[in-house]
Amino acid sequence: MRPESLLVPTPAGLCCPDGGFHIDPLRPVARAVITHAHSDHARPGHGAVLATPETLDLMRLRLGDGFAGATQALRYGEAVTLDGVRVSLHPAGHVLGSAQVRVEKDGLVIVASGDYKDRPDPTCTPFELVPCHVFISEATFGLPVFRHGDAAAETGKLLRSLALFPERTHLLGAYTLGKAQRLIALLRAAGWERPILLHGAAEAVTRYYAGRMDLGELRAVRDAAPDELAGAVVLCPPSALGDRWTRRFPDPIACFASGWMRIRARARQRGVELPLVVSDHCDWDGLTRVIPATGAAEIWLTHGAEEALVHWCGTRGLRARPLHLVGYGDDEEVEAIEAAAGGTTEEPA
Ligand SMILES: [Zn+2]
Repeated sequence: MRPESLLVPTPAGLCCPDGGFHIDPLRPVARAVITHAHSDHARPGHGAVLATPETLDLMRLRLGDGFAGATQALRYGEAVTLDGVRVSLHPAGHVLGSAQVRVEKDGLVIVASGDYKDRPDPTCTPFELVPCHVFISEATFGLPVFRHGDAAAETGKLLRSLALFPERTHLLGAYTLGKAQRLIALLRAAGWERPILLHGAAEAVTRYYAGRMDLGELRAVRDAAPDELAGAVVLCPPSALGDRWTRRFPDPIACFASGWMRIRARARQRGVELPLVVSDHCDWDGLTRVIPATGAAEIWLTHGAEEALVHWCGTRGLRARPLHLVGYGDDEEVEAIEAAAGGTTEEPA
């Protein structure tokens, strides 16, 4: 069996014709396998959804009870056979419940990794290396300029700012699924014991995480007394950094945690005073570590800087090609940066 026949890029996303399913489809399909609950991968309206129990819970929280006609939970390492195609899910280390999809037929194994990172994250199961013949990798940060560094060191920058400006509220813009909860865990690991305040948009998912791990004391920011705001950490979606909601805080400092913050000019242009380089995606080093370690002779690349990685794979003797799937990427985060800049998408001159 040829890999191109087992998984086929289509306008609706990656399709497995023999198994009768799509992976992270962009449009409603009969049967979807979903890698994780971020909105660019987990869309509503599919006939049936197969995913980890956590991903199904998070989709329900974000999209409502009727997000799919039917659901089937599959734990990490368990397998099902769909019309003769064996499908199993394996930890991707990206956010809670995130999975790589291993697809096998006639001895051919393809792993579609979705979004992933191979760095420690106390809020999700560590990335698992899954041997395969074809590895499908994201390329979100697929340029050598992207090196995320140490998340704990980035958290240290926030703690130093809190010590330096004890009267100012630190508004911490972060993707509300995954990044926000990872930052809370990092702050707790670094010894920050004060209650952490949550913007309304971050509450439901954070409470879900908090039901599965110790995140310390969390409070809704709307319930906080004015004197609690001085020197507090308030987690919010990045888009909130640019709106009138920020006016209730005394002399707030806008912080933003994202892999994109490696580009300092971008942070400055967006009015972010304290950029933190914390990402739930692999950086260049991670991508170039994982890709050869899978043992795959063939690499398919999607969403991001595909061409640079195609070239890098070529230098390592790996066959690589871009899939040119449109519709994935850190859209929410990028759009949030635009929104934080006041709704403009123009780069300042
Ligand atoms: Zn994601």
